[in-house]
Amino acid sequence: MYISKSFIPILKNNPSEAKIKSHQLMLRVGMIKQSSAGIYSWLPLGFKVMKKIEKIVREEQDKIGAQEILMPTIQSSEIWKESGRYEDYGEEMLRIKDRQSREMLYGPTNEELVTDIFRSSIKSYKSLPQLLYHIQWKFRDEIRPRFGIMRCREFFMKDAYSFDITDDEALFSYNKFFLSYLKTFKRLNLIAIPMAADTGPIGGNLSHEFIILAETGESKIFTDKRIFDLDSEGTELEKKSLETLRKKYEQFYSVTDEKFNKKEFENKVSEKNRLITKGIEVGHIFYFGDKYSKPMGASVDLPGGKKDFVKMGSYGIGVSRLVGAIIEAKYDEKNEIMKWPISIAPYDIAIIPMINKNDNLALDKANKIYSELVKNKIEPLMDDTEENFSSKIKKMNLIGVPFQIIIGKQNDGDLLEFIEIGKETKKIRLQEIISILKKQKEKI
Ligand code: ATP
Ligand code: MG
Repeated sequence: MYISKSFIPILKNNPSEAKIKSHQLMLRVGMIKQSSAGIYSWLPLGFKVMKKIEKIVREEQDKIGAQEILMPTIQSSEIWKESGRYEDYGEEMLRIKDRQSREMLYGPTNEELVTDIFRSSIKSYKSLPQLLYHIQWKFRDEIRPRFGIMRCREFFMKDAYSFDITDDEALFSYNKFFLSYLKTFKRLNLIAIPMAADTGPIGGNLSHEFIILAETGESKIFTDKRIFDLDSEGTELEKKSLETLRKKYEQFYSVTDEKFNKKEFENKVSEKNRLITKGIEVGHIFYFGDKYSKPMGASVDLPGGKKDFVKMGSYGIGVSRLVGAIIEAKYDEKNEIMKWPISIAPYDIAIIPMINKNDNLALDKANKIYSELVKNKIEPLMDDTEENFSSKIKKMNLIGVPFQIIIGKQNDGDLLEFIEIGKETKKIRLQEIISILKKQKEKI
């Protein structure tokens, strides 16, 4: 993409209404535009990042055998009355009437709808387990939408649902998602810690929130520092191995404030390992047994001829919130430098030629490099404007494309000035740059 042809409406200064760095940056580089309180349009730069996050989330769902569906955003109130949540959900639910005065709603979550889909087709234990997910817009009429897309009213969420026959099998499903979440966040270059959490309006008794550390986070967390050294390396998609993984994490005290117990914290965690800080919730998993299947009559035939209600869990990831969460984790506000992980960067590399009205040399060279990169399936963003050189570099540092090729006055033959944001400048040939980028992209 050429900056001159792009729709990247950059602001000169930080917008005053934005209180946290992700919100500032997203408005500043034109990733989003507010359309009304807590409701945003996604502009090309922001949308590209969100789509890349979505792709990684989807791939990791598919890897544990979850199947993608797409449920509508608008739901009928009937099923919510069946589950008993129509009244309980309260004012966060946006209620709508259609022209026949039927009560509809904009889905804040999908337990009821997916249970209805399940019960209409699955009748036997032989078809279990089922793991279904979708990635769809949700609406919650948050009392205080704030921090841009971090806590907004309309947001993009991946929500998955598991259906099993026994508690034991259902926990196997739960643990599959536990693993899948660790892997997803790792691919997004984030350290997300699973923490025992309250179940809130979803209900049930087992739940983990996945939280990344950030000063601006809204969740207060109490944790044992040693949990940060763990990862899911070597875990197999198999019952025992998954149980071991969860035990490995659960050996360390790690909770959000709803579950916090001072005595327990102090008993379990030595002083030097205690960490009390704030974080952003990027995912949340729940096990709630027959909370929905029972009132909604979602049962299956068991081997002996009896029937039982299916055991369910639900698993959310805030796909749109992740865009902001990653900025919170990566943006260097003081120096105004962002570096997107290559896995989700809006473009792979920036080309920044110093353009002079009377001399097309740098622009010609930049154009050749551009085509060569595209041929190699590398996506460049080139600043072909006549703006001064230093503001071009400043702009690219804000946009956060992780690599840059600078084409200045100096002519070094085939050698190009190549920068990985935050690292030393190198002088190398284009072919070498291409192979560095290809290798980085392979790792995604
Ligand atoms: P929170 O405590 O932040 O309100 P929640 O527990 O209500 O979150 P869930 O119902 O578990 O959230 O939704 C799954 C995921 O959707 C959350 O982990 C979060 O990443 C995202 N999410 C929830 N509410 C919002 C919102 N208002 N704006 C953006 N993302 C959200
Ligand atoms: Mg909430």
